[in-house]
Amino acid sequence: MAEPASALFNTYARFPITLVKGDGTRLYDDTGKEYLDFMSGLAVTSLGHAPQVVKERLVAQLDELWHCSNLFHNPNQEKLAKLLTENSGADAVFFCNSGAEANEAAIKLARRYHSKVLESGRYEIITFHQSFHGRTLATLTATGQDKVKDGYDPLPTGFVHAPFNDSKALEGYINDKTCAIMLEMVQAEGGVIEADPAFVQEIARLCEKHSLLLIVDEVQTGMGRTGKLFAHQHYGIEPDIFTLAKALASGFPMGAMLGKEKLKAAFQPGTHASTFGGTPIASAAAVATVETMLEQDIPARAAELGDYLIAELTAKLAGNPYVKAIRGKGLILGIECTGPVSADVTAIHQKGLLVVSAGPNVIRLLPSLVITKEDIDQAITIIAGVLAEHKAVVSRG
Ligand SMILES: *Cc1c(COP(=O)(O)O)cnc(C)c1O
Repeated sequence: MAEPASALFNTYARFPITLVKGDGTRLYDDTGKEYLDFMSGLAVTSLGHAPQVVKERLVAQLDELWHCSNLFHNPNQEKLAKLLTENSGADAVFFCNSGAEANEAAIKLARRYHSKVLESGRYEIITFHQSFHGRTLATLTATGQDKVKDGYDPLPTGFVHAPFNDSKALEGYINDKTCAIMLEMVQAEGGVIEADPAFVQEIARLCEKHSLLLIVDEVQTGMGRTGKLFAHQHYGIEPDIFTLAKALASGFPMGAMLGKEKLKAAFQPGTHASTFGGTPIASAAAVATVETMLEQDIPARAAELGDYLIAELTAKLAGNPYVKAIRGKGLILGIECTGPVSADVTAIHQKGLLVVSAGPNVIRLLPSLVITKEDIDQAITIIAGVLAEHKAVVSRG
């Protein structure tokens, strides 16, 4: 069937599905077909679709005040900042509307701290191959993948890319202009690749030795996804700066940049701002989200279900020659195949399970953190069934 004419820019290769309703772990399309959601709007709806507590707080806030300028006090924002700092090593928060904006704020803060507080003249940030940090000019320059940069020259200067998980090579990328190292604890878009603990320790050591800021992009890995509230908490490190967005407000657009006490001196009124950052509505949704995650210990649930998911996947896909590796942390998992997975993703969708790829050969699983073991069993049956087709082809060939 021909696609109807669209008045939208063609920036997405959209799946041929129109979703019209979401409820918990399930989504429904415009024909009434039900899907089990193992994608979560890309790690956004971690409490499931339309979680009751968040919905109630949002509706209550809609009756009071939708928007107020950041030139006024905002109690919801204060409350959210307290919740986030009390549950991390950070001391201060800046609210914005997306992951790219949160990383943009992190880059600005790192540069400004070195320029105004340390007066070091350093501005260069080391990021890693296969990383993903966003689509603004600065964050796509920070991203260690050429495909996002094509056609956007001239790009801002001040970023260099080092090989990920290569402890030996890293120090060679540090020079007298370096101000920070920025990384994801699990490279998500890059194919679900975990940072090695030894590599993270080396980064922390080099940051200490060379007075560099350690920036962790937790836009996808934050908010319980990996089995801790923030993924860096698995590694026993405290970043100087870390960023959040996707799951922060259960699907209401919101980003946050969090930093240590010493960094507060770098920002004064007028040095950074956002019209919509942390509106009363967005902050209400985020407060409800964070409180629910803490009260119900959702990160621990993600850890436990993640162990179950990876063990069951490993068992059920064992012996399939198309499957090269199964990896992940908590409820961000990748099934790396020996060839392209786009046809498999489509077939999995047709069987009623929503998944997404991460690069050409990896099927990425990002269920909500409130799925059940039954949901996991159902998902694995579908995935194993679709990937078994390759086994048949391989053994026939
Ligand atoms: C999604 C993502 C971003 C960009 O977030 P947007 O809200 O799309 O701007 C940045 N970093 C990581 C790790 C992400 O997964």
